[in-house]
Amino acid sequence: MTAFSLSPEAAAPRLHVAGRTLERLRSVPGLAARYPGHLDATSLDRLAELPPLAKDDLNTALAHLEPTAGQSATWLFQSGGSTGAPKVGYAPTGFYMAGVHAHWQPLDRTDVFVNAWGAGRMWGAHFLAAALADLSGCRIIALGSVAREEYGDWLAFLGARGVTAIGGTPSVLRLWFAHARAAGVRLPTLRKVLWLGEAWQPQLDEDLAVVAPRARRWGMFGSTETWVVGTNTPDCPAEVFHPLPHQLVHTDPDGLLDFTTLDPEMLNPVLRYRTGDAGELTACPCGRPEPAMRVLGRRDSVVQVRGLGLDVDELIARAEREPGVARAQVVLTEQGGRASALEVLLLPAGPDATPDAERVRTELLTATITLGTAFQHDPESFRVRPVEELVGNGRTGKTAALVVREES
Ligand SMILES: [Zn+2]
Repeated sequence: MTAFSLSPEAAAPRLHVAGRTLERLRSVPGLAARYPGHLDATSLDRLAELPPLAKDDLNTALAHLEPTAGQSATWLFQSGGSTGAPKVGYAPTGFYMAGVHAHWQPLDRTDVFVNAWGAGRMWGAHFLAAALADLSGCRIIALGSVAREEYGDWLAFLGARGVTAIGGTPSVLRLWFAHARAAGVRLPTLRKVLWLGEAWQPQLDEDLAVVAPRARRWGMFGSTETWVVGTNTPDCPAEVFHPLPHQLVHTDPDGLLDFTTLDPEMLNPVLRYRTGDAGELTACPCGRPEPAMRVLGRRDSVVQVRGLGLDVDELIARAEREPGVARAQVVLTEQGGRASALEVLLLPAGPDATPDAERVRTELLTATITLGTAFQHDPESFRVRPVEELVGNGRTGKTAALVVREES
């Protein structure tokens, strides 16, 4: 079923922004043909008739449009890189965070906030979190990424400063709290954990219960193209977000979410833009009356392995259900475009946990028909092994479910 996060009445006064974005997209040589003259964005029904915009389309548009912000700076950011080729996107001074802060205030003046999103390499998360914290008037510790061997010293410093809030990518937060837990570090003053960039990881709840029992999660959902689309509070499920009023969320019958920005300051032409996330509009159990969306993860989790579709997320979920496994990751090695080997890496649940790799391997091969068929003649090319760390993206700190490697 097709549905929008705003009612026709609530959307109407802002739809001229979508109309302007449509005109901008029409001016792009590679895209103009997709938006013939009879299409417009004068109502939600009309908007739903516009074709959705994929990442590559937006890339084409941005290469042509080269936007400049009116009275402010124009920041260039890179998106992709975790799962695709890097693309450039734009944001003005403040990264639209004034609009976010007007509706969502996880931080207040009394907070001491650690910004642990990596800064630099043209990634936006550190800067938008900084802008939010700045608007909150709290004390800010701009930490960024730190190396594995530095966690101990930094945790001691943060403990001494009485930090009350920390923010980062769930993969990075996991490293912080797993390290603190293993080292016996406690952060009793920590009350808030802000996150953005990936789905929340349930293992974080377990580590937080030990390291910082008063801490609760505050999530943001968005992308470098859309910027922050929605937020949630500790009373919302981790996968449910409340869209901001200037972000229009739409679900198609195929279950994919698309986003249209109704903020007149928006520099990226975001019009029915698909991030690849599946989801649905829902009512949130937190009781807030605003609409909410449930994000069900990426639909592009199916990869072709020897002509068969393998659902990476399903494989990982199976592996993570095995005893002693905290997280799993799939590494696909290709040779001339063909899958030569597939590995499942297992991150043990703790220093004493030893996942039984052979048992997991047998379980995965038996339960996943695609795997058994694809590696029927060379089962030794499907391997499972425990590792000390998963393959991460050095720029964003994210850990992709699937890593593809080309063998020369
Ligand atoms: Zn809620």
